[in-house]
Amino acid sequence: MIRIISIVAAAALIPMVAAAEPCPGHPDALGTERVLAVDAKSTPRVGRKSFPDTLPLQRKELVLTFDDGPWSGTTPKVLDALKSECVRATFFQLGRNVATNPAIARRELAEGHSLGHHTFSHPLLDHMAPAKAEAEIDRGIAEDEFALYGRRRNDPTTPFFRFPGFASNRALLDRLQARHIVVFGADVWASDWLPMSPAQELQLILGRIDRAGSGIVLFHDTKAQTAAMLPAFLRELKRRGYRIVHVVPAGNRGNSN
Ligand SMILES: [Zn+2]
Repeated sequence: MIRIISIVAAAALIPMVAAAEPCPGHPDALGTERVLAVDAKSTPRVGRKSFPDTLPLQRKELVLTFDDGPWSGTTPKVLDALKSECVRATFFQLGRNVATNPAIARRELAEGHSLGHHTFSHPLLDHMAPAKAEAEIDRGIAEDEFALYGRRRNDPTTPFFRFPGFASNRALLDRLQARHIVVFGADVWASDWLPMSPAQELQLILGRIDRAGSGIVLFHDTKAQTAAMLPAFLRELKRRGYRIVHVVPAGNRGNSN
């Protein structure tokens, strides 16, 4: 009896663990282990670099995120690397870059990635007047929605947002929570805004991930060094036993209005 209860209890702790889907042409791919639905009601803000909490991840589970794209020289290489390993990620896009590269944004969507928002032009919002800051957020969302779904609106299909430079303030966090938009920080980052070789970036991020054990990982798909090291990075995650979690919005918000 005790044994049965303990098995049930253990199962309850890991409700969504499933084998990764097969990856065509690459049986040893890293793959995407599971999908995690993220809801602003239960997790309005995630990522320990900025907030007290993060996503409910098991040990060795990682969520991969890429900011500031899409960018023509680098994002297609990032997408190629993810596709070859059947890994799904989340892109926090700039409206300005989506307007310039709408076909790349639509490729991200078609390949199953989640598309969050990151303002129109990347200003630091924390010292702006709240109405002006929110208008910048909404301009980005509207541009992203138009390129992806043909509707220029500020009610995002994927209600995920990341502040440029993590520069948030209480008023904006409250406002986004009221709009049921999840604010993503990060747990681990590659510091890929600093100049370094792909090999240096690979060693830096793997060391940080090994120390953190799990979490939301931040890259920039606009950085050539990140695009260059990504194939080796994904191979090494597989070798070290990490598993990829794909975050999606809870519910069916995109089809309901
Ligand atoms: Zn950014």
